Amino acid sequence: MTDRTAERVGEAGRPEWGEPIGFRDGGLVVPDHPLVGFIEGDGIGPEIWRAAKDVTDAAVAVAYGGRRAIAWWELAAGEKAYRQHGEYLPAWTADALRECRVGIKGPLTTPVGGGFRSVNVTLRQTLDLYACVRPVRWFRGLPSPLRDPEKVDMVIFRENTEDVYAGIEWAMGSPEARKLIDYLAGEFGVTVRADSGIGLKPISRAGSERIIRRALRFALENGRRSVTMMHKGNIQKHTEGAFRQWGYDLAEREFTERFVREAAADAATVVSAGAAADAAGTVPAVILKDRIADNMFQQVLLRPADYDVIVAPNLNGDYISDAVAALAGGLGVAAGVNLSDEVAVFEATHGSAPELAGSDVANPTSLILSAAMLLDHLGWGQAARLVSAGVEATVAKGVVTADLARQLGVPAVGTRAYSEAVVSSMHTSERD
Ligand code: NAD
Repeated sequence: MTDRTAERVGEAGRPEWGEPIGFRDGGLVVPDHPLVGFIEGDGIGPEIWRAAKDVTDAAVAVAYGGRRAIAWWELAAGEKAYRQHGEYLPAWTADALRECRVGIKGPLTTPVGGGFRSVNVTLRQTLDLYACVRPVRWFRGLPSPLRDPEKVDMVIFRENTEDVYAGIEWAMGSPEARKLIDYLAGEFGVTVRADSGIGLKPISRAGSERIIRRALRFALENGRRSVTMMHKGNIQKHTEGAFRQWGYDLAEREFTERFVREAAADAATVVSAGAAADAAGTVPAVILKDRIADNMFQQVLLRPADYDVIVAPNLNGDYISDAVAALAGGLGVAAGVNLSDEVAVFEATHGSAPELAGSDVANPTSLILSAAMLLDHLGWGQAARLVSAGVEATVAKGVVTADLARQLGVPAVGTRAYSEAVVSSMHTSERD
């Protein structure tokens, strides 16, 4: 397929009434009918996407009464793209996301092994979506293994492009692995068993600083109480240990007086431009602290109230995101986004659950709450709040899909009935 054909395929689905989102002074310029890309996804993707789209469109209509609407542009990725265009990720999809600056995607299946590169990872690398952000907050009606789940309100910033996820590894016995093993022995006197697979774990200062800066800014702009850097620096000193040190250095250099170290925090209140000041013009300091990764897992279980914004290199971030999600309803309800400085791709945090596909049982909440984040990102806060309030009201009434119903011991509703209940609760709250 030539590039020109690929362009025409993409253009075919582009809604003519959509207006491109602009970018000025580091922020989005959002028209009333913004062009937003969407990827349905594989497995349960089409069903949960339909639910998320219906809820989002309804919220925008209720909030802005027809003045605003999203012009959704379907982009190709995953199995559907392969069927229609002969490739899992046509180049025009990444180009279109770059042009839209905002997109949303359902889950994409990654076959295990067979040299198939994950479409998710490829998209992140192509668009340099270096920050994975996942807010996790418990609300009434969600199952939780904790006694006091209302203490769970965390936002995880995971670095997306470095660490072991950089994908630099060679199989046991390959010429590359053998050559590296010989080189390490010859040059550095380091012995590695000959039958080892070899992987590299690069963590750069620039890569660490940009994700930590983003987490620190988020904490200030949203009046959060603390930022915790999660690392395994006691063992991996020059990668994860360096991540921690670069974080403290950055806070001192770029955010002077806005953050205090944990040790100094007990007595401190400092003047901060970020959070709301009290009558005397002072606000509580945002605390910057760090925790070793293994300890972090027990901390979020035992002292969830002590953790707020968490920032971590890739692999730690991967693990802790799922662990924290389990404290507040699990992956079926956890929202997320992958961000570069300019492009944002919102996504369901779970996989494509192929065994549930086509049976109207999947939980669409993760994608619905990701769509609420998308609305917030557009600056359409009123519509975003309608979506999250609609989900909360529906779940609080015990109207839930099978995954949650099983845990709560209540009857389940289907995907479509659930999204209809969310939409109708938005109309009800509007009348109240
Ligand atoms: P999965 O998240 O698809 O499923 C894990 C378990 O959770 C299964 O029991 C599934 O039935 C259940 N589940 C997941 N989402 C659900 C929902 N919305 N409602 C109800 N139940 C739900 O993980 P998996 O089985 O490890 O992966 C399946 C495929 O998805 C794989 O190809 C994997 O690579 C891919 N995957 C994609 C993404 C992504 O696109 N971001 C993320 C994770 C996994």
